[in-house]
Amino acid sequence: MIPKETVDKIFDSIKIEEVITDYLPDLKKRGTNYWACCPFHNEKTPSFSVSPTKGIYKCFGCGAGGNAVNFVMEIGSLSYPEALKELALKYNIEIKEKELTPEQIDKENKRDGIYLISSYANKFFQEQLWETEEGKIIGLSYFKQRGYSEETIKKFQLGFSPKQKDALSKQAIKNLYQKEFLEESGLSFFNERGCADRFKERVIFPIHNYSGKVLGFGGRALDPKNKAKYLNSPENPIYNKSKVLYGLYFAKLAIGRRDNCFIVEGYTDVISMYQAGVENVVSASGTALSTEQINLIGRLTKNITLLFDGDEAGLRASFKSIDLILREGMNVKVVMFPEGEDPDSYSKMLSQEDFINYLSENSKDFIQYKSELLNKNSKNDPAKRVKHIKDIARSISVIPDRLLRSEYCKVSSSLLDVSEQDLLREVSLFLQEKKKVKFIHSKTSQQNKIAAEIEKKPVKTNLLEVCEKEILRLLFNYGNEILEFEDEKINVSEYIMGELHNDNITFSNSFYKQIMNEYKQKILEKKMFNLNHFLNHENSEIQQLSISFVSKKHEISKKWEDIHHIFTGDETKNLELTIEKAVLSLKQAFIKNEIEQINKRISDEEDPSIIIITKLTKLNKALVIINKLLGRNFN
Ligand code: ATP
Ligand code: MN
Repeated sequence: MIPKETVDKIFDSIKIEEVITDYLPDLKKRGTNYWACCPFHNEKTPSFSVSPTKGIYKCFGCGAGGNAVNFVMEIGSLSYPEALKELALKYNIEIKEKELTPEQIDKENKRDGIYLISSYANKFFQEQLWETEEGKIIGLSYFKQRGYSEETIKKFQLGFSPKQKDALSKQAIKNLYQKEFLEESGLSFFNERGCADRFKERVIFPIHNYSGKVLGFGGRALDPKNKAKYLNSPENPIYNKSKVLYGLYFAKLAIGRRDNCFIVEGYTDVISMYQAGVENVVSASGTALSTEQINLIGRLTKNITLLFDGDEAGLRASFKSIDLILREGMNVKVVMFPEGEDPDSYSKMLSQEDFINYLSENSKDFIQYKSELLNKNSKNDPAKRVKHIKDIARSISVIPDRLLRSEYCKVSSSLLDVSEQDLLREVSLFLQEKKKVKFIHSKTSQQNKIAAEIEKKPVKTNLLEVCEKEILRLLFNYGNEILEFEDEKINVSEYIMGELHNDNITFSNSFYKQIMNEYKQKILEKKMFNLNHFLNHENSEIQQLSISFVSKKHEISKKWEDIHHIFTGDETKNLELTIEKAVLSLKQAFIKNEIEQINKRISDEEDPSIIIITKLTKLNKALVIINKLLGRNFN
């Protein structure tokens, strides 16, 4: 575990706008906040705001919100300690870990150890490529002959593993790297007779995670007699094939900017396209696209274009995995290349301009493409036609957006020469089937899910709970502000606590009650309300509610008021009035609720006791007074 003092030091050093700018270079200051297009959902106008003073971000489009650590976790798919380490690195804070169980130390050390050895190996392979005779003659010339510029080779950190069977292992051990990690990473094998490298006489493609750390390698054989043309790092504690996309680290900015992501087959296609000026390109590296990989892209764009090398069989084989993308609510297009060409070869055959034009002229909507393809192959075979129509209907049915589904039915019905009604009916049959299976698919991360739920919560209108929430909101926004009444000065939190205490009011909603209790306790400890404690709360439900309390969609500029002498309805204009009204409203709702419950009891009982009747009379009297106060002061 990272010691508390270090965590505090990291939190103290963080400037959220700096952290987020690293990932969103388009973050722009407007008023006191910064704004950008949200990285967690697709949008054209910015609704993602960052508040430097509160140290939080909040998206008014999708509801995502949190502090700088949450942001780094979300955007990099990192665990809490991993995100802290990333931030510690940025702010030059040394982390000395302690207090782990031996088992945890083992696991954490293992990951760290593998990261270290991977980074070392990455340097080693590059040195071999650029600085040894063997590397230059065999490796570098191979890359150059493939048409890669020196700039490209350096950018992608390409390398070379020499022919000597233990070159890397020997040198790593000489430099005091541990055997254990060399073995775990899959870079070395050990036995009684000695050690051997996984990669020998290959050119090397390092595989990076979202934030640029090396996780593993792919190596291409240079000797044509070698049986395995490509060899890859095995899965290990840091490298999980289905969670990584080759090239994403280099492509992420371009994907956002172009609002599209090209997916190609392998390393060489990514690099060639990048060099040809198409930088928004990644590869799933030999595996079928996983949901995790799709969601990595989904944060940057909702548009995916798959590139296929001119054989229809390959495209057909991937129909299933393409439905996976549609299911995530993404739009899928496909581009086919001429027979025998792939993105790597074709980008070299054409000029840069022609290649880019080819991509845009030949990209076809996937459903449309699939309809045409199936139609072509089943013209005069009714049974086959039915099968294909169902097939298309299934693809359409996985699209989450209803309007988009019906658009597709329209287009496909004419392509398949079937009536739109028939197609719609087929689609709805698949939809019903899916409901029966109760297919619960989670695509948003935990954090965003909680934010979305909290945003939805007040929909269930229980007046008392609404009033309780409003009191909390005011406490969070103005807890330490001073109220000036005719006879006294008192701060907002003391005033509200006092009023509730005097009338013996506690919250009915248990979640709000829990927060209120913690609020009280914190005030007792520190005399002041500390908003930061809640904005960085370890309970993410409490954290998300706090963030929603203090985030405002539109910040009214002071200038605007001064220039136009317009009262903008700002609740801080007369804070005394705002707070009094909220407290009275809570009291009113509280009494109404009590009365309602007593009435229920009375109607259940034959002969209500005099005590209950007296209480009811008292409550009714109190209600009249409060109604009057509310009416007089606030209408
Ligand atoms: P050639 O020069 O013969 O065309 P290549 O290096 O371009 O060879 P291809 O056989 O054309 O390789 O394959 C295209 C892409 O598919 C490569 O970029 C590579 O990344 C990927 N690929 C092929 N085989 C594998 C494999 N076993 N594991 C991972 N990726 C692979
Ligand atoms: Mn090739």
